[in-house]
Amino acid sequence: MRKIQFVLAFLLFLPVALPAQESFDAAAVQKIRQEGLERSQVMEIASWLTDVYGPRLTNSPITEMAGEWTVEQLKKWGLSNARMEPWGTFGRGWTNERTVVQVTAPVAFPVLAYPSAWTPGTQGLIKGSVKMVSIESLEDFEKYQGTLRNAIVMLGPPRQVLPSEAPLSRRLTDAELEEMAARSGAAEQRGRPNVSREEIRRRFAVQRALAAERTKFLAEEGVSVVLLEGRGDGGTVFVSSSGGSRSLDDPARTPVLVVAVESYGRIARILEKGLPVTMEVDVQNTFHDQSMETFNVFAEIPGTDKADEVVMLGAHFDSWHSGTGATDNAAGSAVMLEAVRLLKALGLPMRRTVRIGLWTGEEQGLLGSEAWVRKVFGEPGSPTPAQKKISGYFNVDNGTGAIRGVYLQGNSAVGPIFEEWMKPFADKGVGTLTISNTGGTDHLSFNAVGIPGFQFIQDPIEYSTRTHHSNMDTWERLQADDMKLNAAVVAAFVYLTANRPELLPRPQPLTP
Ligand SMILES: [Zn+2]
Repeated sequence: MRKIQFVLAFLLFLPVALPAQESFDAAAVQKIRQEGLERSQVMEIASWLTDVYGPRLTNSPITEMAGEWTVEQLKKWGLSNARMEPWGTFGRGWTNERTVVQVTAPVAFPVLAYPSAWTPGTQGLIKGSVKMVSIESLEDFEKYQGTLRNAIVMLGPPRQVLPSEAPLSRRLTDAELEEMAARSGAAEQRGRPNVSREEIRRRFAVQRALAAERTKFLAEEGVSVVLLEGRGDGGTVFVSSSGGSRSLDDPARTPVLVVAVESYGRIARILEKGLPVTMEVDVQNTFHDQSMETFNVFAEIPGTDKADEVVMLGAHFDSWHSGTGATDNAAGSAVMLEAVRLLKALGLPMRRTVRIGLWTGEEQGLLGSEAWVRKVFGEPGSPTPAQKKISGYFNVDNGTGAIRGVYLQGNSAVGPIFEEWMKPFADKGVGTLTISNTGGTDHLSFNAVGIPGFQFIQDPIEYSTRTHHSNMDTWERLQADDMKLNAAVVAAFVYLTANRPELLPRPQPLTP
C-alpha cells in the first residue's frame, strides 16, 4: 500500500519536484552492474596477477611476464592498442629466489624473515654468531670498530608488543562517512599538522643520513648479515627496501633481512641472558641489469563521435615483494582490467575513447604514471593539446575494500554529477562524496597537470593493519564481493564519463 502511494506521489510531482540534474542512461548502468556482479572474472584475474605473476617488484622479470600476460588478456577481450610502453629509467631489477633463516644454537628454531628489496644475497649458506648492536649516532661507531667481522648483526632491542584493541578488519561507519562528506576545502587546509613540512623533511633527512652512514660502516666492518626488526606482529611482517639500492652506481653491500618481531624478540632475549646464538642463513637474490628501463601497460576502447577525447582508468601494477602484492595493488589492477572487460563484453556504445593505464614504479614514488603523464599531457602549467582532450582519470589503490564514494580532490563542480552516478549503487553502500584530497597514489600525477583525477573512498578492511606492504598481502585477503562491486562501479563511472555531453569540470584551485 505504501508503495502504491509512493509511486503515485512520485508520478504527480515528477515534473516539478526534480531539479535540473545530470541525466544518464540508467538502463546501461544496470547492465554493467548485473554483468559485474553476476558474471565477474575479477578474482580469477587477481589470481593470475598474484599466484602466478606475483610479486611484481618494478623491473623484475616476473613483472615483465605479468605485463605480457595482461596485454594478452586485453587483446583477447578485444581492446585496441594493447601494449607495454617504456616510460624511462628506473634502475635495477631484483628477485629473491631463496630464503632460509634458522637459529642453530643454543636451541634450534626457524626464523620468519624476508630480505629487504635490492639487497644482496649471502653467496651460499653462511653460519655465524649473532651480535646485538645499538647505533643511534655517529659517535657509536667507535665502540664497535673491529668487533663485527662475519657477525650477524641485530640493530637494536626488540619493541614491546601490546595486545591490539582495534579490530584487524573493519568497514567505514556511517558516522565516519558523514564526517568525510561534511568536510570543506578550507577545513582541510586548517586541519594541517602543526609541524611544518620543512621540519618533517629535515628530521627525515637526519635519520636517512645516519642510516646511510651506518650501512656503510657495517659493510666496511665486514658484517655478514643485518637483521632488522619488522613492523607488524602475529605473523605479519612489513617489508620494503631498507638498506637496498636499485642504482648500479651505489649497490648495497650487505644482505639485510627483515625479521618478524616474535623471532627477533626470541633471539634478543636469549642474547640478553649472555648465551651465544648461532644462525644459518642462505639467501639468494638476483639483480637484473639487462635494462634499467621499464614499462606501463595501456589499451583502448575507441570512442564513436568523440573518439579524439579520452577517459582514463588506471591503477599501479607493481608491488612490494614479501607477499604477492594482492591488495597493493593487484586488487586495483584487477578491478580496472575487469572494468574494461565488462565494458567491452557488453558492447555498450561509448562516445569518447576509453584508455586503461597500469603503472609501475608507483611504490618508489609514482614514477611510471608521472613520467607518462608529463610526456603526454605536459608539465604543470604548460599543458599539451592532449591535456584539453582528457575528461578525467579514475584510480583504485586502497586495497580490496568496497567503494563507498569518491574523493573529489577539491573539485566541487564534479560533486553533483557523481552524486547522480552513485545512485544505482546506493543499496551497496556507495554514496559518499568528500571534497577532501587523498594522496599517495597515481591520480596525483594527473591532478598535478590540471586533469580531474579521482581515487575512490574504500572500506579499509585489513589494509593498514595487515596487508599494505606485508608478507600477508596475498590473494586470500581479497574480498570477492567487494572486488566485483568495485569493478562495476568503476565501469559505470567510466561509461558515464565517456558518454557525457561535456568533459568533466576541471578542478578549481582551493580558495584560502
Ligand atoms: Zn603500496
